[in-house]
Amino acid sequence: MQRAQSKNEVQSYFSASPWRWIQVRLSDQEVVMQVNGQCHCGQVRYRAEIDPEKVTICHCVDCQILTGCAYRVSVMTEIENCELLSGEIKIYIKKADSGAKRVQAFCPHCGTPLYAEALENPKIRALRVGCLAERAILPPRRQIWCRSAQPWAENISRVDPKFEGQGAV
Ligand SMILES: [Zn+2]
Ligand SMILES: [Zn+2]
Repeated sequence: MQRAQSKNEVQSYFSASPWRWIQVRLSDQEVVMQVNGQCHCGQVRYRAEIDPEKVTICHCVDCQILTGCAYRVSVMTEIENCELLSGEIKIYIKKADSGAKRVQAFCPHCGTPLYAEALENPKIRALRVGCLAERAILPPRRQIWCRSAQPWAENISRVDPKFEGQGAV
């Protein structure tokens, strides 16, 4: 990914994805990229500014169950950088073993997971990368809770055969 070189510089570049120009600017500490989120049914839409370096895979057991998948991909950003454009959000409050409570936000119509944040005095929001239109150019930069990772999820390129579409059931 090409980078802006100086502070507050606004730079457009053609991304690896052929359908979108991305605007990147450098704030004091980080690269900022504007992203557009949407749930599956389309009622919830939001816009946010993120740092593409903060895309993370989480292998924790809660993420596996809440997504129904092997792991979750999220990007952390400050709540003040997020703007809800349409729709209504429902929340589920998850209690960790440590006792920490965390808000899990989802679309009440289609159930798409949207983001998570602390229950009290939240400042940081973990946006679910699968809902972002720009997800193809947001590769994860780190993995957390690897001790509960599914061993088969480490390298799915080994899973064969591969079909372009649905394939045989
Ligand atoms: Zn929805
Ligand atoms: Zn997790």
